[in-house]
Amino acid sequence: MAQHEHEIEGAAERRLADCHPHHRILFDPVPIGPVVAPNRFYQVPHASGMTESNPRVRAAFRGTKAEGGWGVVSTGAVSIHPSSDDSPLPYARLWNEADIASHALTTAAVHKHGSLAAVELWHGGAVVMNRTSRLPPLSPSGVPWAATHIGFMGQQRPKPMDGRDIDAVLQWQRAATRRALDAGFDIIYVYAGMGYLGYEFLLPEYNWRTDGYGGSLENRTRFVREMLEVTRDEAGSKAAVALRISLEELRAKASDHYESEAHGVVSLLSDIPDLWDVKMDSSPNDCGASRFRPEGAHEPIIDFVRKVTDRTVVGVGRFTSPDTMVSQIKRGVLDLIGGARASIADPFLPEKIRRGESDAIRECIGCNICIASWHDGVPVRCTQNATAGEEWRRDWHPERFQKTPQPEHVLVVGGGPAGLEAALVAARQGYQVTMAEQRSDWGGRVLQESQLPGLAVWRRVRDYRVWALSQLGNVAMYTDSPMEAADIAGLKADHIAVATGARWTTHLYSPLEIPSSPLSAARVFTPDDVFADRVAGDRILVFDYDNYYLGGVIAETLGRQGAQVVYATPAGHASAWTFMTNELPYVYKALGEQGVEILTTTNLDHFDGTRAQMRNLFNDEVLERQVDAVVIVGLRLPNTTLYESLQALQASGDGTLASAHIALVGDALAPGAIAHAVHSGHGFARGLLCDPTDLYRRDEPIGLPTPQPVFTEQ
Ligand code: ADP
Ligand code: SF4
Repeated sequence: MAQHEHEIEGAAERRLADCHPHHRILFDPVPIGPVVAPNRFYQVPHASGMTESNPRVRAAFRGTKAEGGWGVVSTGAVSIHPSSDDSPLPYARLWNEADIASHALTTAAVHKHGSLAAVELWHGGAVVMNRTSRLPPLSPSGVPWAATHIGFMGQQRPKPMDGRDIDAVLQWQRAATRRALDAGFDIIYVYAGMGYLGYEFLLPEYNWRTDGYGGSLENRTRFVREMLEVTRDEAGSKAAVALRISLEELRAKASDHYESEAHGVVSLLSDIPDLWDVKMDSSPNDCGASRFRPEGAHEPIIDFVRKVTDRTVVGVGRFTSPDTMVSQIKRGVLDLIGGARASIADPFLPEKIRRGESDAIRECIGCNICIASWHDGVPVRCTQNATAGEEWRRDWHPERFQKTPQPEHVLVVGGGPAGLEAALVAARQGYQVTMAEQRSDWGGRVLQESQLPGLAVWRRVRDYRVWALSQLGNVAMYTDSPMEAADIAGLKADHIAVATGARWTTHLYSPLEIPSSPLSAARVFTPDDVFADRVAGDRILVFDYDNYYLGGVIAETLGRQGAQVVYATPAGHASAWTFMTNELPYVYKALGEQGVEILTTTNLDHFDGTRAQMRNLFNDEVLERQVDAVVIVGLRLPNTTLYESLQALQASGDGTLASAHIALVGDALAPGAIAHAVHSGHGFARGLLCDPTDLYRRDEPIGLPTPQPVFTEQ
């Protein structure tokens, strides 16, 4: 659909009068083949965990970004055929006509705000295992992706493609393009990145062919060229054709005729796509956690593309600063500013820049909880933006808030992520809000953890909320204010959010895979002691069955402070769950740099003050290490003492808190990642204006005819 045919809402308001002059370049329209992006903000394809089973959730999620000013909004990977079946990981599809209607919901939601909709057509090649379709995976030469992570392992090896298979994939791409046009997409992708089929043809490690599709660089680019050609042929002038390509491995390969094989591929295909969407190869590098990868980390790999092709170039780099974005454009690195995480954390980032309100951007912290959602197989969650994925399901808009008919008094006790979010949302809904925090500064655990190596960016969780609260006239904020039930009773609040956080304990770990009894000995510490600077020793054991980042970060911290550190975990990897957030390989590097000894599948039995006795979880082999101190990063329990006192006071019948609504929020309710605390705080405040027994709307697939058609090869 051409852009002028779209019904555009809000375009009249989108003026540049208030935009900082230096940032106006970001709002230039940019032609992409036959279509025109209304500005340079391009939400690149990214996984959302939303599939054909939740089409309304998906449409609202993507549509909200268009509303927030992203000029192009893309889907995540959309499979073109059942031979590209990534189950149980979530993926979308355009396998036949029945799949069109659910995508049309998304394109309508995007077009409504004058943005272009892009579809990332995708064939997974050897990377997918076709666990549900049970078709043979396809690959150039039968070389599998032999992943080291169990979630990606499988016992199905790919079939080497013959000429008929290649023709079939080209026809599937053509048919999916036709369906994508019917669904209303304006930009159609060919995917040659991140290990998937097109990439496998480009890389000699995957492509061992001796026919016209293998060997020389020209031959290895042939499959991608033909995919682009069929897409172009089918799309005609109705849609632009984009090529998404990973360039890291290719750039590392020497070439006889070009500066590198990456230069060669871009030169050989230079003007075939209308748009080059350029990126890295592995997920930990492409979507790197801020702990290890700075903003703009892709530039050294992709900086040449703009010089080799005249076509439009988009790339990413966890950009949240408009000055960095402008610099990318002015220095000729990119034409369009790609955003995936930046657009999840703040769907209204472009609008805020346009209005000259850059301070109001809720910047991504690079924690990669969003990626973990995909690995978990569920719709996207975000630490910074509790409304991500909840736009339709719970009717949570990131910037619009229902107003309370009565400005009742809300007291929030505890100024961590949960308390800050609860206070901010309640205040935006028009309540009179009082916040009390016992410490001398806001932020709770975020304030403490952001002082650890690599986590400084996480402070944005606190900074954004404290800034936003300071802009509102109906909020009173008090630090250095430890609250007890009697103090609270005197304030006569209508609603009390008890966001008092959680505490770490010294519980050991049972071979039944549950926490056992506390370890009560001298010099046994928890992360709370690390934050309070109470841990000292030349040799320290960090015993971690929390398995997320903190145990690893504490081991790194103690190592940096000069201690000789042993890190032990019952899990199979150090900081095992950081696989989910793309951090795992870099955790090992960081621990290696500090000389930390890593013991996996290892349980801690006993510590007598000088000697830690451990045992291999599987073979019972006993290990001992002489250490001065043990830090246990294991069980967290909620801080509910205040809540229980309030409940007791309310039940005492003296009438003090008789009508008050008292709720536990965040870690005090159920300890979790920061994302859980923010979501809980948000939910508390929204819940003030709706029936608290309503959970959420349940989405259902649409557009499926009955009986189902039989798939054919074409
Ligand atoms: P969450 O992640 O749920 O927000 P945090 O542990 O980050 O939890 O934050 C809880 C905050 O509550 C901490 O800053 C802590 O100092 C504060 N707090 C705990 N008990 C009280 C209390 N009785 N009065 C005031 N503040 C409190
Ligand atoms: Fe950024 Fe974390 Fe949100 Fe992902 S979950 S968008 S990394 S803040």
